[in-house]
Amino acid sequence: MRNGLKPDLIERVLGGKPKYTLSELEEKFPPRDLPDGAFVTRFAPSPTGFMHIGGLYQVLINSKLAQQSHGVFMLRIEDTDTKREVKDAVRIIVDSLAQFGLQYNNDEKYGPYYQSQRRDIYHSVAADLLARGLAYPCFLTAADMEEIRAKQSAAGFPTGIYGEFARDRDLTDDEIIAHLDKGEIPSIRLYSTGNPNQRIFCKDAVRGSISFPENNEDLVLIKSNDGLPTYHFAHLCDDHFMRTTHVVRGAEWLSSLPLHYQLFRMMGWTPPQYIHTSTLDTIDADTGKQRKLSKRHDPEANVANLLASGWPVAAVLEYLFNIIASGYEEAKLKGAVKNIWEYEFRPKKIPMSGALFDMKKLEWWAKENIATMSVSDLVNNVVAWAQKYGESMHIAQVKDVDYLTRVLSIERDNPKRIRKDFITWRQTLSEVAYFWDEFFTPNRDFEFNRDLLNEFLSTFNINDDKDTWWNKIVAIANTAGVKNGDVAMNLRVAITGRTNTPDLYSIMQVMGEKRVLSRVQGALK
Ligand code: GLU
Repeated sequence: MRNGLKPDLIERVLGGKPKYTLSELEEKFPPRDLPDGAFVTRFAPSPTGFMHIGGLYQVLINSKLAQQSHGVFMLRIEDTDTKREVKDAVRIIVDSLAQFGLQYNNDEKYGPYYQSQRRDIYHSVAADLLARGLAYPCFLTAADMEEIRAKQSAAGFPTGIYGEFARDRDLTDDEIIAHLDKGEIPSIRLYSTGNPNQRIFCKDAVRGSISFPENNEDLVLIKSNDGLPTYHFAHLCDDHFMRTTHVVRGAEWLSSLPLHYQLFRMMGWTPPQYIHTSTLDTIDADTGKQRKLSKRHDPEANVANLLASGWPVAAVLEYLFNIIASGYEEAKLKGAVKNIWEYEFRPKKIPMSGALFDMKKLEWWAKENIATMSVSDLVNNVVAWAQKYGESMHIAQVKDVDYLTRVLSIERDNPKRIRKDFITWRQTLSEVAYFWDEFFTPNRDFEFNRDLLNEFLSTFNINDDKDTWWNKIVAIANTAGVKNGDVAMNLRVAITGRTNTPDLYSIMQVMGEKRVLSRVQGALK
C-alpha cells in the first residue's frame, strides 16, 4: 500500500469529481430480489462486427443457466476499446440473438449496459482505490514503456510494469502535481502488493480450485487516452454492481483469474462464480488435427453464415446445447423433453477442453428438427429465409405460398414415415426445385421406354385415386412384360428428372394434370 490521495488530487487525477461514493453505488444497485439459487448471468461481447459460433455457444450457456434457475440473463456491450470499434457491430449481435430467439433482460435499474456509458461508475470505484492507496496515477508514456520493456528483455526479466519497474507507483503528491501541471494525463494503475512467489487459490465452478502465482503487475485500470476502463477493471465494477452470480467466459481469461480475485479482495466484494469454457473446435481438413474453429478458414464459425445458408436456428441451438449437456439427445429421443428449454443441465457437465463442432452432426439435428416441424412452420421458415437471403430462384419458389405448401406437405402426414431429406432452408428449396417448370432440369441421360410413357399418357387421369392410379401402372407393366417398378421409374424420371424422389403419386397430384402431361410429353420428344 502507498499513501492514499486526497479528494482534490483524486479529482485532478481523474479529470473530474467522482460522481458517487461506494455506498451510494451499493444503494443504487442493490442485491437483486430473486429466488434462492437464481443465476444472474451475462453475455459480454466486445463489438467487433462479427458473431462467432463460440459466442453463440456462450450465450446459450448463459441464457440457459438463467432460465432454468429463474434468474436473469443480461447483454452487456464491452465497448471500451474505441480503437477496435466497428460500425453496426452491436446490431449484428442483437440481431443474431433475436434470430435465435435468445432473449436477454436488461433491467434498467442495473444499467446502462454499454460500458462506454458507465464511466461515472468506474471513476467512482477508481477514486476509492486511489484514496486507499491501492491505485495510483501513472505518467509513463508509450516510449517510456518501450524502454522498460527493452531493458527487461535484455536482462531476462519478465516484461511489464511491476515492482522496481513501476516508475510512478510511489510518486509523492508534489511529484504528481508537477506532472499534472505539465498537462500530462495519467492512466490509473493498480498498486499491486502480490508476491509471485506465493500462490493464490482461485475457483472455477467446473474446473475446481486452481492455484496461480500471485499477481505483481501494476495493471492499468483506467486508460489515459480516453479515461475508459480496461477489461479487468470494468469486469470488477460491472459484475459486482450488476449483481452477476456467474461469469461464463472463454478459457483465454483463465490466466487473469488471480488478478480478478485480487481486485475483488481489495474491494471486499465476493467474486462471482467463474466458468471458463473451452473453444469450439473442428478437425482441420489438411492436417487431420483438431483445432479451434477459425473465422478465417471455417465459414461455420460465423453465425451470420449459418443463418444465410438457412440452417434451422432451433437445430443449431439443439446441437450446441447437446455439446453443453450431453444427456439432452437421449432425453429428446425418448420424448422426455420437447426442447432445450425443458431440459435441466448441470454446469459441471460443460466440457472443459476442445469441444468438437461437427457439421455432420449439425446436419443430423437439422434433419430431425425439420422432420418434426409442422408444415406451416416449415413453410414459414422457408419463406422467411428466401425473402431475407434467397436468390432469384428461391424468391420465385416462395411466391405462390399455396403451391409451396402443397409441395412441402408431401410425405409429412404419417408421423412414422416423415421424410428426412431436408437439412437447410436453402437446400429444401433446391431439393424441390423440379416442381417449378423454370427450375426443372430434364434428365438427358436416362433411356426412356417410349411405349411405357405412351401407354401412361393414354390412360392417365389426374382424378384417379391412388389405388386406381397404381392398378393402371401394374396393367401397363403386365402388358409390356416389365416390372411395375420399371414403369414407375420411367414416369419418375420423366416428371422429376430424378431417379429418387418421394411418393410419385403425391408428386403428380401436387403438380397437376397439365404439368404431368407436358413433362411426359417432353421426355418423349
Ligand atoms: N468482452 C470480453 C470478451 O469478449 C468478455 C469476457 C467476459 O465475458 O467477461 O472476451
